[in-house]
Amino acid sequence: MAYKFKCLNCGEVTYSAAPLEYQKNKNCQRCGGKVIQIYPPMRLGEILVHLDAITQDELNEALAIQKRMLTRATIGKILLRLQLVNQIDLEKALKIQREMLGGLTH
Ligand SMILES: [Zn+2]
Repeated sequence: MAYKFKCLNCGEVTYSAAPLEYQKNKNCQRCGGKVIQIYPPMRLGEILVHLDAITQDELNEALAIQKRMLTRATIGKILLRLQLVNQIDLEKALKIQREMLGGLTH
């Protein structure tokens, strides 16, 4: 299975046999911008970690809270309530996620 990546800066799409976490260079080879994994799509929390908006520990904390909830809130809402993320970073990650999911239909 091939993993698909996209540069957030210039839009360069690349493929690899290994997921992003095993990539030696997580930046775009063309412009040096941040690269995200678009296939399989990253989850919102992973995008936020990747954008340095939250840490992996903070994500784990939010995921643990989400698991304990009777009615599941989105991870974005939980992070906002815990004040681990601000609205601007969350919007940015949601926009990336929308583009990521939309990109699969092309
Ligand atoms: Zn680039």
